[in-house]
Amino acid sequence: MSRRYNFCAGPAALPEEVLLQARDELLDWQDAGLSIMEMSHRSKEIVAIAEQAESDLRELLDIGNHYKVIFTQGGASTQFAAVPLNLTGNTRAVDYVNTGQWSKKAIAEAKRYADVNIAASSEDTNFSTIPARDSWQINNDAAYLHYTPNETIGGVEFNWLPQTKAPLVVDMSSTILSRPINVDDYGVIYAGAQKNIGPAGLTLVIVREDLLEQSRDELPTMLNWKTLADNDSMYNTPPTYSLYLAGLVFQWLKQQGGLTAMAQINERKAQKLYGYIDDSTFYANPVETVSRSWMNVPFTIETPDSAELEKTFVAEADKAGLLNLKGHRSVGGMRASIYNAVPEAAVDTLIDFMQDFASRHAG
Ligand SMILES: *Cc1c(COP(=O)(O)O)cnc(C)c1O
Repeated sequence: MSRRYNFCAGPAALPEEVLLQARDELLDWQDAGLSIMEMSHRSKEIVAIAEQAESDLRELLDIGNHYKVIFTQGGASTQFAAVPLNLTGNTRAVDYVNTGQWSKKAIAEAKRYADVNIAASSEDTNFSTIPARDSWQINNDAAYLHYTPNETIGGVEFNWLPQTKAPLVVDMSSTILSRPINVDDYGVIYAGAQKNIGPAGLTLVIVREDLLEQSRDELPTMLNWKTLADNDSMYNTPPTYSLYLAGLVFQWLKQQGGLTAMAQINERKAQKLYGYIDDSTFYANPVETVSRSWMNVPFTIETPDSAELEKTFVAEADKAGLLNLKGHRSVGGMRASIYNAVPEAAVDTLIDFMQDFASRHAG
């Protein structure tokens, strides 16, 4: 067996320690005589695993008691519909910010259910910036303002908090748990698990309690946050194995020193990689410096034959044990996703490879 460095945007790398523990417990979980996957979700074992995962997550993110934590299914994409259906019982007016591909998908889905005002957009810079604060057209009476703190495809990230009277609703799929946040700044936080939480199949929703009272009548039961919360995420069968693995990831994060420690490591990893790209004349990153993502680093090659060279780069990197560096099909080039579970050594090895590649191919 030889595990390689995985820069996939999602499903993403998982901590090796977590995978080893899951392997050890696969057939017979803690002498229960069966696998986690084979247990009833009503069993005391699974209920305890779910409770522990929630309590560890609450500790990591410092989530107050006036927030509900929901583990559900369907990915962040299902929440694109759940958000308007849960929150527009009183008014259909909603604010959205468009900073890239994931914002666009959230907006398209919201338009099916609500009256969407685009409060700000960075489409005019090809999503290489966060819209300037003085350009925002905010509706303070909107049911909520939705934005995407980290755009996974464009690699652009907010480093400030939008100001509006409406509750902030955020798709944190690709930045959650990368650093401490102030949960009280948000009305709703949601995330697909497969970037920084655990394996695909699990979706996290953190919702302020007072926002559970404004849903629409036609809201499907399985999207109803109040129903899911009232049933401790066990209204139907939750993805028990994914939840167990997420729980192991939360314990791993606590062992690393929690999110303050992760923030230091993540910032250092990102600065190394951006620093190298900026110092080189061979590679470039298109995002304005202050809005660069800590988690997703897109980069291109700046030579006349770059399209061919980028293909060669991805293929050679793969052979060298650096996996999944191809950029998203909509933007091309390369992208290194350097989530929590991607060790600093992976970034160092990538930079060494980039240096070597540039020295062999620079004109
Ligand atoms: C990956 C991702 C999604 C899609 O998540 P699914 O769980 O596949 O629906 C949505 N938003 C962001 C920001 C993402 O990174």
